[in-house]
Amino acid sequence: SLPRVVIIGGGAGGATAARYIAKDSAGEIDVVLIEPTRTYYTCFFSNLYLGGFRDLASIGHNYGKLAAEYGITVLHDWATGIDREAQTVSLAGGNVLSYDKLVISPGIDFIEGSIPGWKQTDQTKMPHAFKAGSQTELLRAQVLAMREGGTFALIAPPNPYRCPPGPYERVSMVAHLMKQSNPTAKILIVDPKESFSKQALFEEGWNAHYPGMIERVGPDFGGDKVEVRPGAMEVVIDGEVEAVDVCNVVPAMKAGHICEKAGITEGNWAPVVPATMASRVDENIHVLGDSADQGDMPKSAFSANSQAKVCAMAVRSALTGSRTFPARFANTCWSLIDENDGVKVGATYEATEDKIARIDGFVSQPGEDRDIRQQTFEESLGWYDAITADMFG
Ligand code: FAD
Repeated sequence: SLPRVVIIGGGAGGATAARYIAKDSAGEIDVVLIEPTRTYYTCFFSNLYLGGFRDLASIGHNYGKLAAEYGITVLHDWATGIDREAQTVSLAGGNVLSYDKLVISPGIDFIEGSIPGWKQTDQTKMPHAFKAGSQTELLRAQVLAMREGGTFALIAPPNPYRCPPGPYERVSMVAHLMKQSNPTAKILIVDPKESFSKQALFEEGWNAHYPGMIERVGPDFGGDKVEVRPGAMEVVIDGEVEAVDVCNVVPAMKAGHICEKAGITEGNWAPVVPATMASRVDENIHVLGDSADQGDMPKSAFSANSQAKVCAMAVRSALTGSRTFPARFANTCWSLIDENDGVKVGATYEATEDKIARIDGFVSQPGEDRDIRQQTFEESLGWYDAITADMFG
């Protein structure tokens, strides 16, 4: 029988790996993808949905083509356990699948207790919206229903977390909505970090587009000593109580829970061998995307997609003897600050013994003219179409 690759998680890392392994192996490998949801809503561009630039349907994708055109077995189920010795994965529905190689790309989970007062069950009152779909819909509904002159609070996460500019793009998009429908509203960012991704660009944009609307409390003023009270809709910053109307809590993150269950984590993340994305703990398991502790790449969909192609090459080579090439990786993170005001930061990377190491990079500059910013935004639209086609066919 054919060698089998089982892939856990049909997101940026997992869907790409499944498609590349299947399309390049000409039926020599049995590819099984396990993903609980039938529609995957991309976190990337979910902030644009919040800001009214996209509708929800436009960020939803399904697995039909991966099954029909690439011969991938798509099982809508949860992986609940991994037996590394027996090389099997058990599913919530009761199936047990054997594998020759296992690829794990489950994204992130939240560290319980990282924001005092907030539990996962409070996400209906104080959404995180850092897994896209119903959480993002809820947050948008709350923002639109906010009282006139109300306060939107965002509790930002400590490093490392998925999408370094994500919380700040989100604030920009909420400000864009407020400017139209609720111009006296306020936005409060409570941040445990000294600084954040593309900070100069965001701050310049906020001053230009949303003057006086956005305030950020960093660690010098208690941004790292925050507690929330979902019942009372209060945020407590270093002992000072603030009443808020919407509270977007983004807790500290760790590798998707299934990594812990597999016993492949060290601390919060799963260390990998950069050249192949194989787990440092088990050479038959590869870890992609947000869950991987790999070195210099930010946790992004672009990174996960790039890592998945390196992994697919290594897995095919191990199972069918196909050729390999030196691993190369790339990432760009675009953010939208206001209509047609797009910025980006990116880099290329190579695999060293220790880590995925940054070679060279670029970042948008403060004070760029409108044409360049519009071009940057349009580039991001092209990227979105390209990466989703690369993932889902
Ligand atoms: P995911 O894409 O999250 O996929 C994980 C999948 O695994 C999920 O579908 C989940 O259902 C499944 N899963 C989890 N556990 C199990 C299990 N036990 N069994 C089976 N399936 C399981 N990145 C960019 O590149 N550009 C952007 O502009 C950008 N913007 C962002 C904006 C926001 C607001 C956020 C939150 C993120 C953004 N990102 C962006 C980051 C990007 O979404 C993630 O880094 C990327 O999705 C990581 O890919 P992944 O494969 O690791 O995880």
